[in-house]
Amino acid sequence: MSVDPTSAKVIQPLDVDYDAIRSSNPHRMVHGVEARLIRLRQQVINVWTAVQAYRSPAGIRAVIARLKEHRALASGGKRVVKLVSAAGRNHWRLFIPANTSPLHVPFLKGELNRLVPHSRGGHELAVVFLSVTKKCPLKCEHCFEWDNLNQKEVIGPEDINHMIENLQSMGATNIAFTGGEPMLRVREMAESIRRYKSKSQFWILTSGFNFTAANAAELRSAGAHGVVVSIDHYDPLAHDQFRGTKGSFRDAITAVKHALDQGYLTAISTCVTRENANREYIDAFMDLAKSLGVGFVQWIEPKAVGHYAMQDVLLKPEHQAVLEEALLDYTYMDAYKDHPLVIYHEYYQRKLGCFAAGNKMVYVDTDGDLMSCPFCHRKGGSLLGDDFRQSLENLRTAGCSDYGPVMV
Ligand code: SF4
Repeated sequence: MSVDPTSAKVIQPLDVDYDAIRSSNPHRMVHGVEARLIRLRQQVINVWTAVQAYRSPAGIRAVIARLKEHRALASGGKRVVKLVSAAGRNHWRLFIPANTSPLHVPFLKGELNRLVPHSRGGHELAVVFLSVTKKCPLKCEHCFEWDNLNQKEVIGPEDINHMIENLQSMGATNIAFTGGEPMLRVREMAESIRRYKSKSQFWILTSGFNFTAANAAELRSAGAHGVVVSIDHYDPLAHDQFRGTKGSFRDAITAVKHALDQGYLTAISTCVTRENANREYIDAFMDLAKSLGVGFVQWIEPKAVGHYAMQDVLLKPEHQAVLEEALLDYTYMDAYKDHPLVIYHEYYQRKLGCFAAGNKMVYVDTDGDLMSCPFCHRKGGSLLGDDFRQSLENLRTAGCSDYGPVMV
């Protein structure tokens, strides 16, 4: 995205006082001996869960072989050198429950079942992105719900609860509220989280709008687990222009502060456009993320859907190569051990196949319809009806056209 000073769309720079809005409760990156000891404990849990799931040496050997195969494809067999400590819990990945959580073993059993099927339970879905409103005051360049934005609401509070019950009947480790801007439905989200938090971790995906200190506290006391805040540039002016809304950068970084203050597992999500897919930009952005104190940064590639429909926005191989090299550096190199961990779904999906399409992950749009993912607008059917399982099965059968066979 270029900032054209002659354009009527130009938004004036913001005077941001970073020191005033930096949390005094940042996440801590753990590495060295401490990380190795935590990994050892995790390996014991993994093996014990596999023993419980397969109850046979052949089953355990088979799943270990699949795991090694995945690691070799994804990273050439390298191990992540750091993890995130937040609110007394340790995290390797954004959507994996900490090993002290009661959801950890059901999650692991679900993951194992996808690799080598077993019959001893586990969650069917690792992550569900659940849209709870069509309303949003922003006008982001990349908005995938653009065509539905600010239309008449279809989903009511009872529908939200009904959808959560349907999802939890299959096992859904993480339910992430999105939209539109989910922070326009704080009361409804808090009520649902209070009722259903024992069976899923609940997340808020927000632009930062309305993520005030009071709302952050209300959702946290209801039991919300994590927050992902969208920040699309380290430069406030460029972010505000991308989001089409003056003040959105200040809202976003203030939301990060409130999330960290309240002890949420906190991440930043950023759309990396062609213009920003260079090492100078990535390093500056990662420095901002580190200084804000978040544990994870999610990079997403622009897709030609929603507001970007029919536009030539897809990253080219040379852009992806820059991001992939940076991902490996930030994940495995000691020099970056104090920077947040990077989540780059497209990289792993290119290596391992699609994670979504109703398999590990699914998206529920603002009409309550199950879709493969936020960027692939193929509908499988409604999550609200009695035949929601069939709706999910429809997605699984159709698979993914972008990333090849669904990863199992
Ligand atoms: S991307 Fe999110 S914040 Fe931006 S316009 Fe769309 S719904 Fe609103």
